This record gives sequence, structure tokens and C-alpha cells, in this order.
Amino acid sequence: MKQHLLNLSLSELAAHFDTWGEPRYRAEQVALWTLRKGAKSFEEMTDLPRTLRSRLNNEFTITSPPALDTQTAHDNSTTKVLLDLGKGEAIETVRMDYDPDSNRIEGRSTICVSTQAGCAIGCIFCATGQQGFTRNLTAAEIVAQVLYFTRERPITNVVFMGMGEPLANYDAMLRAIRWLVDEQGFNIRQRGITVSTVGLIRPIERLAKEQLQIGLTISLHAPDDELRRYLIPNAGNVTINALLETGTKYQQATKRRITYAYALLEGVNDKPEQARTLAKTLRGRPIHVNLIPYNPTAGDNLRRPKPDRVLAFLREMRIAGINTTVREERGIEIAAACGQLRTDMLDNSQTT
Ligand code: SF4
Repeated sequence: MKQHLLNLSLSELAAHFDTWGEPRYRAEQVALWTLRKGAKSFEEMTDLPRTLRSRLNNEFTITSPPALDTQTAHDNSTTKVLLDLGKGEAIETVRMDYDPDSNRIEGRSTICVSTQAGCAIGCIFCATGQQGFTRNLTAAEIVAQVLYFTRERPITNVVFMGMGEPLANYDAMLRAIRWLVDEQGFNIRQRGITVSTVGLIRPIERLAKEQLQIGLTISLHAPDDELRRYLIPNAGNVTINALLETGTKYQQATKRRITYAYALLEGVNDKPEQARTLAKTLRGRPIHVNLIPYNPTAGDNLRRPKPDRVLAFLREMRIAGINTTVREERGIEIAAACGQLRTDMLDNSQTT
């Protein structure tokens, strides 16, 4: 079976070309055609010798998964696509033409990519988490999600916040990041990349050593360990204090400020006293907290807090001196449910 070319890094591809007696710049040409010029076959790479094109075609593929479904929000701010991985499996990718974490709009186009089909972490408020884990995506499948949207127009940011826990698929995630930031790849600035995790300590420590200046968002979702374990059942026995320590080390190594994400669930973790407890734990750390009012997707018993509850939580955090924002949401009718398109597809396949 042919190997997908984007499952190799550029250095690995160049090393492979070396065994064929081809110089490195040929590997760079292939990367440029595949990622920036949107070539769908080696035949289109007209500045490569015909013999090389044919050799590439015999050994590699650069096919991309086709779209099964797309949805665009009424204000055009958000587009979601369901990509077909074959064998009944599919993943979601979203483009947001605004910055969900800073409320700025100008010049931003952010792709939210998935790293796994399903997810084993099982967060009780997440549609993907309720589906269970199917498999890790390959680097090529992660890169293909960005490619799908860059074929339409340039993008500025990529967030690893879609389906799956990126740090549980570390090698493929890192390979994809290298293609994103490599000058011969997509050439996206490192600061435009953010990895979002429930807080897997060892992989965070590993990421801190990769000499990358990418952002890190760690999901807290609770002011205390007991509630956090209930909301995020399979994140291991890590404590909030251990997470904060790991975040601080990441920050020191990369010079990037950590964001802590906090999904607000009505009556579960949105009380003012819970905000005060959280603020006390976070006080003194140069961090940012992003409050995310829950979008009902997974549990029948979970609800989005009313705006005044969100504001009250925000006020408590700010009074305590914690740098806190509420996530901007546009195109809410489709952005709401990460994993929802896939859920619908799985439901349909079970009922037809
Ligand atoms: S929120 Fe993220 S980590 Fe939690 S179950 Fe969903 S995809 Fe997995």
C-alpha cells in the first residue's frame, strides 16, 4: 500500500529523496506543491522531472479526504466540514473568521483541527467524549484538515481544539505542527498555533522541550479536584496544583502565557463562590482564564448558564485580579457542537 507523503516530515522526505539520489530542494518543491499550491496529484508538479513524478506516484499518495457535509453560519463567520476518513469514520474541522479567544476579528482566520476519531477522555459535557475513542488520526489526516480550508484562502491560526485529545496522539500532532510552521510547509507563525489539552503532564513536559513557541490551553473546568475528576473522568489522577506547576514550567520554557479554559455549566461549576475558590488557586500566576459558556451537546441534564451568571463569575475573577475573558462565539448555531456532525452521521448510519 502506498504511504501518504505527509506522514513523513520534510527532513524524512529529504532523506528518502537522498536514497534516490535527489537533492533536498526537490523534497521542498514537492512540499510546496502539496501544501501551498494545492496540487492533488504528482502529475501536476510540472517543474519536477517526469521520472521523479512517476517514482513518487509509485510509492506515495497525496490524496485528501473528501467532504461529506459542510455547514456555514448565517453570518459567514464559521464554516464546519465533515471529512470522510473511510470505513464509516469521519472527523470535523471548523474555520472561524475571528479570534475566539481575544474577540478580535481583523485579519484572523483560524482552523480548529481534530486529532482523533472520537476521544477516550470522556468529558461529560462533550459530544465527542460521549462517543468513545475509535482511533488516532495520522499526521496526514491532521494536515488535510488545514489543507481543505487553505485551498479556499489563506489562514492565520490553527488551534488543536477539535475532536480528540491532541497530546494523546503526540507524534502525529507534532509532525502536523512541523508541517504547519515549516517555511517550506504552510509557513504559519509558531505563535499562531495553539494546542488545547485536558492536561497530560508528561506530553506537556515533552512539548516544552521541542523548541517551539506554540500556545498551550489547559482545560480546568472546575475549582477543585473532585469536581474536575467528575467532569473529566479519564484525565488521570492529576491535581489542579500539579497542572498549574506544569503550566508554569511550559511558560518558562516557551515564553508563552498559558490559557486555562473553564467551561461554564449551569448549577455545576458556575457559582460565585466557585469563582472565588478558583481565583484563590490561580492568584499570583501570570495566566489567562477563558470562560466558555456551555453549548448543549452532550448531556440532557447540562445547561448553559444565563448571561448574568456568566457575568457574575467573570466579575468575581476580575475582582480577584485574574486576567479573565469570556469566549467569543459567532456562528453559534453550527459552532456549538464539536462532534455533533459526526454524531449525526453515526446516528444516521445506525438507523438506515
Ligand atoms: S472535550 Fe476534548 S478531551 Fe474532553 S472528551 Fe471532548 S474531545 Fe475529548
